[in-house]
Amino acid sequence: MVSVMWFRRDLRLEDNIALAKAFEESEQLILVFHINPEQFLENSLNHDAFFASVWHFKEVLKKSGLHLQILYGDITKSFSDLKKSFPNWSEIYFNKDERGYGKQRDDRMREFFKKHEIAVHSYMDHYLHGAYEVQNNSGDLYKVFTPYYNKWIELEKPTPIQVMINPKKVLKEVLFKENEEKLEKMVKESSLNIHYLPGTEQAKKQLNKFIEEKIDKYKKARDYPFEDNTSRLSQYLRTGEISIRTVWNAVKKETSSESQKTFLKELCWRDFYHMIYVGNPDQKMKPIKTQFSNIQWNNDKEQFEKWKLGHTGYPLVDAAMRQLNETGWMHNRLRMIVASFLTKDLLIDWRWGERYFQKMLIDYDASSNIGGWQWAASTGTDAVPYFRVFNPTTQSEKYDPSGNFIRKYVTELSAVKNEYIHDPEKMSKEEQEAAGVIMGEHYPYPIVNHSEARKRAISVFEESKDIV
Ligand code: FAD
Repeated sequence: MVSVMWFRRDLRLEDNIALAKAFEESEQLILVFHINPEQFLENSLNHDAFFASVWHFKEVLKKSGLHLQILYGDITKSFSDLKKSFPNWSEIYFNKDERGYGKQRDDRMREFFKKHEIAVHSYMDHYLHGAYEVQNNSGDLYKVFTPYYNKWIELEKPTPIQVMINPKKVLKEVLFKENEEKLEKMVKESSLNIHYLPGTEQAKKQLNKFIEEKIDKYKKARDYPFEDNTSRLSQYLRTGEISIRTVWNAVKKETSSESQKTFLKELCWRDFYHMIYVGNPDQKMKPIKTQFSNIQWNNDKEQFEKWKLGHTGYPLVDAAMRQLNETGWMHNRLRMIVASFLTKDLLIDWRWGERYFQKMLIDYDASSNIGGWQWAASTGTDAVPYFRVFNPTTQSEKYDPSGNFIRKYVTELSAVKNEYIHDPEKMSKEEQEAAGVIMGEHYPYPIVNHSEARKRAISVFEESKDIV
């Protein structure tokens, strides 16, 4: 009997439910990863980082005496070719997707496997609690975070599981050499010019470092971008290089402070947004709050480009966007600020911002990204009220008081004094000369006036409600 283990967002050998079952129940096992070129994004840090992780995983498997077969191209053709090579292939194991593209793919492939008499063994592995595990007293999915959290925190959490790896069971013959070559070429020729360290070992180091050095101050320190006091685990959680069970249990075991509680609550947001996406499958395209379906967005393309490049004239917004462009990651507080700025100050459709983040984030996760954008744009469930518009200058004064984060990324402002760093347009000509930055020449004036933009956003959101 031949079985297949199909890896997706679970690029690890440890604590992997489908893999553990596949080893336990199979005589001969083929390990596969499928690449669908239809999903490729051009010049995308997200895309390049993910495939760097796949390549790294393939190398790790090789060192463990295993082999990852690469399938490439049309998905049904890829699996048909595999079936032709192994007519006695009868079982497939994978960790399932409950939402978005992954769910559509799984539904389609379940039909295919049924037709070919291949038994499907699929498991919920990516979340502490699957979407339907946390329901209100009427048996419905929650819409609001706090009651969801109150229920969620009371539920027993899964513990990491052992995977009994047996290299003897794994097919080592390379089946599709040309596909491996395509992956290698893609990874080697990618424009990934960021500092990116893939792999489970790296993820575990990161987790341990966070527990040893940072968790106890997390509650207070997590909001200050310059200090880098968050776990930076999101990139490993999205590739599955570390499991959510491993993270939960390690943090739970080591400390029991208020900071620990705050951190574990963040993991709940991950489950919450996943559940929201499952309950609202078209939320990538449509606002959850239907009263905001008809917002008259301004959608100024030139302003959108300036936002993307970090040339808005609001130093913290610009520093945040440059952090994203240079590293593929952005601090959570800054994600909220730039998303509010785009959707309220510039009145640009949140879907434009969501797509740009999808292209650039190395931790891109559809549920959390769409959830975060709909939160900031006030269109999501349990979102920030439409009349709450972040003030980019006061946010900057509060969360980057020394201006050091701004100076790190907006280097043209590096010699600007503290009193002007959040608002450099207030510098006199002499002060600009002394700081080596001439406003309008080296650094832009603000592209919108925040207080006017705030009023405009509130009135456009209010008008949109009337249209319904
Ligand atoms: P930590 O503070 O160390 O948190 C630990 C983990 O908890 C994170 O790795 C993440 O898995 C989870 N988490 C924390 N905050 C949130 C949150 N608000 N929502 C969901 N999960 C959370 N997160 C992504 O993983 N992928 C995305 O594509 C993404 N897009 C976002 C877009 C916007 C507009 C906003 C406002 C937030 C977005 N987030 C996203 C959530 C959050 O910003 C990141 O999870 C966090 O910054 C990752 O850094 P960290 O691992 O150091 O976080």
